[in-house]
Amino acid sequence: MTDKRVNRRNFLAVAVGGAGATALSGLATASPAAASGIELAWDRSADIVVVGYGGAGAAAAITAYDAGASVLVIEKTENGGGSTRYSGGFFVSPRSVDGAVDYLMHCARAADGHHYDLDRESLTAWAQEAQHNADWIGELGGDPYATLRGWYDVPGAADYVTWQPRPNSTGVGLWNVLHNAVSERGIEVVYNVAGTELVTRIVDEENGSTSIEIVGVIVGEGEQRMAVQAAKGVILTTGGFDYDEQLKQNYLRTYPAYSTGHPGDTGDAIKLASKAGAALSRLTGTAANVCHKFDDVPVAYPSSLQLNAANRTMIMVDQRGRRFINESLNYDAVAKSLEYFDAADGSYPRNPCWMVFDDAARTAGPAGLPNPIGDPVYGWSADNSEEISKGWVLEATSLAELADKMGVDAASLEQSVERYNGDAEAGNDAEFGRTLGLKALEGPAYYALKAYPGLWATGGGPRLDSSARVLDPAGTPIARLYAAGSASSFCFSFLYPLSGTAIGDCFAMGRIAGQHASTLTEWANEVE
Ligand SMILES: Cc1cc2nc3c(=O)[nH]c(=O)nc-3n(C[C@H](O)[C@H](O)[C@H](O)COP(=O)(O)OP(=O)(O)OC[C@H]3O[C@@H](n4cnc5c(N)ncnc54)[C@H](O)[C@@H]3O)c2cc1C
Repeated sequence: MTDKRVNRRNFLAVAVGGAGATALSGLATASPAAASGIELAWDRSADIVVVGYGGAGAAAAITAYDAGASVLVIEKTENGGGSTRYSGGFFVSPRSVDGAVDYLMHCARAADGHHYDLDRESLTAWAQEAQHNADWIGELGGDPYATLRGWYDVPGAADYVTWQPRPNSTGVGLWNVLHNAVSERGIEVVYNVAGTELVTRIVDEENGSTSIEIVGVIVGEGEQRMAVQAAKGVILTTGGFDYDEQLKQNYLRTYPAYSTGHPGDTGDAIKLASKAGAALSRLTGTAANVCHKFDDVPVAYPSSLQLNAANRTMIMVDQRGRRFINESLNYDAVAKSLEYFDAADGSYPRNPCWMVFDDAARTAGPAGLPNPIGDPVYGWSADNSEEISKGWVLEATSLAELADKMGVDAASLEQSVERYNGDAEAGNDAEFGRTLGLKALEGPAYYALKAYPGLWATGGGPRLDSSARVLDPAGTPIARLYAAGSASSFCFSFLYPLSGTAIGDCFAMGRIAGQHASTLTEWANEVE
C-alpha cells in the first residue's frame, strides 16, 4: 500500500487546464516534496466516500446524505452489514449525558485515577450525540425499545441504557433498518472492492509550511482498481481488527483471541490511516466474550454456557485445574479475566481455560452459540452429543478421568469442584461471590470444554477528536479524514460498559463524521 501525494501546484496545472476533476498529475510516492509526475485519473467522484458498509458506515452515509452531500460507499465483501448484521441488535442510547459520562468514566477506570485514556469533555460530546440514537433509529423506522441498564453498579448506570429495534430485535433487524434507509435515499454502495490506499494532497500553508489533506481513495485491485475522488472527505468505517493475527498479537492483552464477527474486519482503517500519519489509540480495548474455537470451523462460537451461567451450572478452571472467577458475571468481565498473566512462570494459565459441567447443563442446550449469521451457519447440537462425538466436548465418568483428558492436575480439579459444591450447597460462594446459577455439579458424568478469549469486536484504531476527525501524533486533525465505529472506538477503552456500546458508538460517531464532513468546502474549490 502506498500513499499517493498530490502536489498542489501540479494538481492546479492539470485541473485548471481543462481536465476538470478527471485527471491529476504530480503524484509522489514518498515525500510530499518529491513529485514524480505519475498521472491519476479519477474514475468516480462523490463529496464523501465512506469505506466500509456496516453500522458506522451506514450512519455516516445516511447523515452526510441528509446534510446535502453526495455519498459513495465502498464495501469489500459481497454484502453489507459487517459485524453489525451479526450482532444482537443492542445499541446504547443514554437517558442523560452526565449519567452516561459518569458511567463510562468508571468503566474506563478513569474516574478513580487509573490510566485509561478517556476524558469527560470528549465523552460529553459523544453522549450528546448518542442520546439521540434511539430517536434516530425510530425515525428510520426501527421502533426501538429500552432493554438493559449499565452492568456495573456505579454512578450513571441507570442512565446508561441499551435498546433493541422492533419488530426484529436482532442485528439482522437493526441492519434492515439501516440498509433500507440507505437504499431509500439512493445512496450508491459499491460491493466487492476494498479501499486500499488513501490519496493525499499537499497543501501549502500561508506560513510557508505544508500540510496534507485526504482527497480520495484507491479501491480494488487489478482490473477493478479505481481512483475515487472525495471532494469533501473520506470516512473510514472498516470495523475492527478481529481477523488480523499480527495486529492482535501486537495489541491485545493476550493471544489467541478469536473473533465471532465478520471476516471483513481486518483492521484496514489502522493500515490506511497509519500510512497517512494517524496516531493510534485504545488498541487494547475490546468487547470481549468467552468462546470456543476448533480448527475445522473458521469462526469462534461464543459460549452459551457462560452467557447463560445464571441458569446453567458450569465452573471455569485454569490450566492447573483451579477455579478463578464468578462465572455468572457479564461476558466481558469474565473474558477479561482470561487475560491474566502469571509473571512468576511467564504463562497465561487461563488462555485457554476450561468449562466443567454436568449432565443437567449438557442437556439444557448447546454449549456454543450457533454462529455466525450467514451462509454457511456453523451449528451446534442441542444436547451437545455431536460435539462429544467430534471430541470438542470431553466426557468422563469421574473428575479424575476428566482431568486426565483435559491434561490438568486431577487433585486440583477435584479440590476445585469439591470446594465449589460445598459453597453452592451452603448458598455462599466464599471464593468468588457467585450468586446466580450457584448449584452443585452432579456426577457421575462430567464434561469439559476448552475456552478462549473471544471478540465481539476490537476497539482501538486511529485516534479521533470529538468531531470524528483522525488525529496525527501531535493531535492535529488530518484534514478531510474521519473514522467511526469499531475502526476507532471512541467511548470505551478497557471494560466493555454494556451490550450495545459498540453499536451505540458506531451510530454516534458515524453521524458526527457524516455531519462534520458534509459541512466542508470541496477541496477543489479551495484551490485558487
Ligand atoms: C455475534 C456478535 C454479536 C454482537 N452483538 C452486539 C450488540 O448487540 N450490540 C453492540 O453494540 N455490539 C455488538 N457486537 C459488536 C458490534 O457488532 C460491532 O462492534 C459493530 O457492529 C461494528 O460496526 P462497524 O460498522 O464498525 O463495523 P462492521 O459492522 O463490521 O462493518 C465494517 C465493514 O467494513 C468492511 N470493510 C473492511 N475493510 C474494508 C475496506 N478496506 N474497504 C471496504 N470495506 C471494508 C467489512 O467487510 C464490513 O462489512 C456484536 C458482535 C458480534 C460478532
